Amino acid sequence: MKQYDYVIVGSGLFAGVWAYLANKQGKKCLVIEKRDHLGGNIYCEDVEGIHVHKYGAHIFHTSNREVWDFVNSLAEFNRYTNSPVANYKGEMYNMPFNMNTFSKMWGISTPQEAKDIIASQRSSITGEPKNLEEQAISLVGVDIYQKLVKGYTEKQWGRDCKELPAFIIKRLPVRYTYDNNYFNDLYQGIPIGGYNVIIDKLFEGCDVETGVDYLENREKYDALGDCIVYTGTIDSYYGYQYGKLEYRSLRFESQVLDIDNYQGVAVVNYTDRETPYTRVIEHKHFEFGTQPKTVITREYPADWEEGMEPYYPVNDEKNQDLYSQYAKLAEKEERVIFGGRLAEYKYYDMDKVILSAWNGRKRPDYKERSRKKRINKKK
Ligand SMILES: Cc1cc2nc3c(=O)[nH]c(=O)nc-3n(C[C@H](O)[C@H](O)[C@H](O)COP(=O)(O)OP(=O)(O)OC[C@H]3O[C@@H](n4cnc5c(N)ncnc54)[C@H](O)[C@@H]3O)c2cc1C
Repeated sequence: MKQYDYVIVGSGLFAGVWAYLANKQGKKCLVIEKRDHLGGNIYCEDVEGIHVHKYGAHIFHTSNREVWDFVNSLAEFNRYTNSPVANYKGEMYNMPFNMNTFSKMWGISTPQEAKDIIASQRSSITGEPKNLEEQAISLVGVDIYQKLVKGYTEKQWGRDCKELPAFIIKRLPVRYTYDNNYFNDLYQGIPIGGYNVIIDKLFEGCDVETGVDYLENREKYDALGDCIVYTGTIDSYYGYQYGKLEYRSLRFESQVLDIDNYQGVAVVNYTDRETPYTRVIEHKHFEFGTQPKTVITREYPADWEEGMEPYYPVNDEKNQDLYSQYAKLAEKEERVIFGGRLAEYKYYDMDKVILSAWNGRKRPDYKERSRKKRINKKK
């Protein structure tokens, strides 16, 4: 008998939901986190009484009623609706592209006028789009591409849109209504009191060690648990034996300002090429804050190197092939479960990562799975 049923590596949402459900079933969990706090990327830091989204703006949205009920059982959610604004050289446009955007851009007022303009601008691209620029113009026309897509995308990827493959942008949602709500989901909001309220509830009852890298103490922690739930990067788990998976990273620069309202909205996208950052987040607006000061964060896209936070997987063919080699090794593990965005090398929204942890817990017990694997091997 080992001391813990689960040694959980990492403390993001995947780990948290796993721990919460395991606890409810009377299982004992040890959580190991290499950062000095729990919560993974949804963690908020309290600055001037404002909940600062330390690892990037997080807005909860879902159409899944079960997931919505679950998160609401952990925290009350406010009525925040994500309505970001784009700043193109001082011109302000509503997002996502909708009648407010078109009216500002072309001085028009009806959906038909907007459709006609976009259709005529799209027609400059004939045949299969050869790169991202052609793909974007074929979807939304020249003006929207030039002012709202080009600079932002080039900053995100660190490359000219003509050098980027068309498949990166499969669709650019265009709405012919005066509706600035960014998400189409049925439910959205921000937990009142910030995401840490949820984190605290998820890990209640677990033993926790922060500031510890599992990979540097693997033998010790493997000996403590029956089963390891690993939510770190899969390539690092296997010592990068087939090579390193690529990511895009971000650099955040935060500032406390001695004013109560800097930009009037939580998210402003800077869509010109010259401004080096892509977004400015003013955190208090997520919770309708009335504090005398404000905190803003400028978000700079960056190439990922070891030691930086791996934010977005680069799911191109080369990296997917590499990932599947690691996934094959993972499949053979008898007492390790790999889950979450890093271990599965997959971009997950929060609701999807919750679902994935649920589904993992619903799988047959890992001991039963190990037994079946051993039997299959013998066959
Ligand atoms: C910039 C950004 C903005 C986002 N905005 C939204 C949004 O608005 N809405 C939305 O639904 N989703 C959003 N997401 C997605 C959301 O962050 C993820 O769904 C969620 O955080 C995934 O949780 P996770 O548990 O898989 O990973 P993480 O939260 O990354 O947790 C993994 C944890 O494991 C720890 N760890 C890794 N390796 C080790 C090790 N060797 N030893 C110990 N600990 C280790 C890490 O430090 C980390 O804390 C956003 C993501 C990013 C990057």
